[in-house]
Amino acid sequence: MSKKAALYNCLALIGVGLIGSSIARAARAQGAVHSIVATARSAATRRRVAELGLADQVVESNGAAVEGADLVIVCIPVGACGTVAKEIGPYLTPGATISDVGSVKGSVVRDMGLHLPKNVHFVPAHPVAGTEHSGPDAGFAELFVNRWCILTPPEGTDRKAVDKLAAFWRLLGANVEKMSAEHHDLVLAITSHLPHLIAYTIVGTADEMQTVTRSEVLKFSAGGFRDFTRIAASDPTMWRDVFLANKDAVLEMLGRFNEDVSALTKAIRKGDGETLFKHFKRTRAIRKGIVDIGQDSPAADFGRPHPSLPPEPLPKPYAAGED
Ligand code: NAP
Repeated sequence: MSKKAALYNCLALIGVGLIGSSIARAARAQGAVHSIVATARSAATRRRVAELGLADQVVESNGAAVEGADLVIVCIPVGACGTVAKEIGPYLTPGATISDVGSVKGSVVRDMGLHLPKNVHFVPAHPVAGTEHSGPDAGFAELFVNRWCILTPPEGTDRKAVDKLAAFWRLLGANVEKMSAEHHDLVLAITSHLPHLIAYTIVGTADEMQTVTRSEVLKFSAGGFRDFTRIAASDPTMWRDVFLANKDAVLEMLGRFNEDVSALTKAIRKGDGETLFKHFKRTRAIRKGIVDIGQDSPAADFGRPHPSLPPEPLPKPYAAGED
């Protein structure tokens, strides 16, 4: 691993699933840290992490993982972050930066902050990047390239520690933005949490229909339903925790959504084509805006590489020989 660009000496990863393993791969590829120590809850995952060579050292306990690390990133479901913070608190190195990757920030700030000693820097983070796959095999080094990573440092957090973590995420290819945990949770409720709830709902509704058989749902799934099934395949534990942890913001957005569904329902019932057309025209413009700013591809594969196509060369931050 390159010593030149390393921002941290030792990175401790607690939890090595999709996100943790992608951080390990990207940090390695970029020489962002000198060494990586990893741990996971189950022996099976720890064994797999060792087999994949994702870390320099795989240890059995969370306490052992963080000892001596100057950057700790907790990559587990948000509902478990408080318990883990309590466990690692006594083992943290003074001056170390402690972060996470949770999809909800308010609950993580509250649950983890409570247990962390005053002599460490707590900088919560959320890389807004992912897939519906889980586990250490699912990660890849390019996951964060051109994606946002949102930092939500509590007031009074050491600025240098925040800037250094921002530099770490930039090295992994991400664009970094800072905001309050409360604002993050409101924004993500509409852009990520509600869409997942809708996908989980619609796939469940289709599954329960008596008049359309399951085989027909699968056979004709190209008509818009297919992408919902991809989102609805996301990890059940992670998403259970997200909805429980971001209850207020999700309920607020769900209330607005229900009002809008009622308005469209009424337009359909009344044959009000003008209302429907105006609405669809407005949403089409939003889609164009997302593609224009590079947050998605206009390709019919919804921005995901087709498995039969050769992978694209690594984007600039990963170009070989950059050392
Ligand atoms: P994942 O692939 O399912 O991996 C989760 C990891 O957490 C595994 O190593 C698992 O260990 C460990 N774990 C699970 N429950 C635990 C517990 N109660 N205590 C300690 N460790 C536990 O999940 P992921 O997709 O990487 O998600 C991790 C975090 O990233 C979540 O907070 C999620 O909100 C956030 N996030 C996810 C995405 C996404 O698209 N997936 C995107 C951005 C952020 P075992 O394997 O040993 O069970």
